[in-house]
Amino acid sequence: MPKTCAFCDGENPLTKEHVWPSSFLERIGKGHAHYSPKSGRVHGGDYIVRDVCQECNNVYLSPLDEYFCALYDRYMSTPFGANSSVTLEYDYDMLCRSMLKIAYNTARSAGSETEPFHRLCDYILHGGSCPDGVALIAELVSPSYIEDSSGPVVKVKEVLPWMYRSIRAGLMTPNGNAVLARIVAVNSFFFHLLLSRNSEDFNCFELAKAEFLSKIKGTVVLNKNAMEVNLRSSPQDSLRSILPLLVKKKDQYSNFFNRRK
Ligand SMILES: [Zn+2]
Repeated sequence: MPKTCAFCDGENPLTKEHVWPSSFLERIGKGHAHYSPKSGRVHGGDYIVRDVCQECNNVYLSPLDEYFCALYDRYMSTPFGANSSVTLEYDYDMLCRSMLKIAYNTARSAGSETEPFHRLCDYILHGGSCPDGVALIAELVSPSYIEDSSGPVVKVKEVLPWMYRSIRAGLMTPNGNAVLARIVAVNSFFFHLLLSRNSEDFNCFELAKAEFLSKIKGTVVLNKNAMEVNLRSSPQDSLRSILPLLVKKKDQYSNFFNRRK
């Protein structure tokens, strides 16, 4: 059976597609390392998938990359300090489709769950009205504070969230299983995507969404009909969400950077 495009299901020739927009990777430089659960190894941040046809890639998906980069330039290129606030102006469809695209690309490249994305592909490609069972939730995370005990006096060090990640999350609430939860994080901005696993009945999805909002403080559901949102630093810091992985894979990370030198 010929391989079909992951977005349009067509049998057109497939091309290379960057998981993160290449224009974004050019902006941030290539000195980043990510751990891949699929290969069990740490490698560079420039993931590639090879299952997107040329038309989807160049005609329908590349405007999403441009939109994402413009937003990055305007708001996200520098992390925010503690107790910040920002008014994010956005185009809901462009933002939501950009985030879905990055999350779907990552999920395929990581061999992770992709099923809830399938019914959204037409929306990701062509826009229109966002299907039910999708929540896009924004958060401005706080810097991390860690104890530095290398000197004679223990000091508290502020660590700003310089990072970008597209990861799967687990929602450990009574209805958490009703959704696939993913995070697309760029420096201080975390975009949480909740996608209903049931494509017809969205009751449990709505319950899971409410549980998420009451559990993760300072997060705001982006309104489909609004054009801006006010975000204030949330009680969560970004480092805590990935720290367990960094500690567990510490040797692999240092090997990776040593090889690069
Ligand atoms: Zn296609």
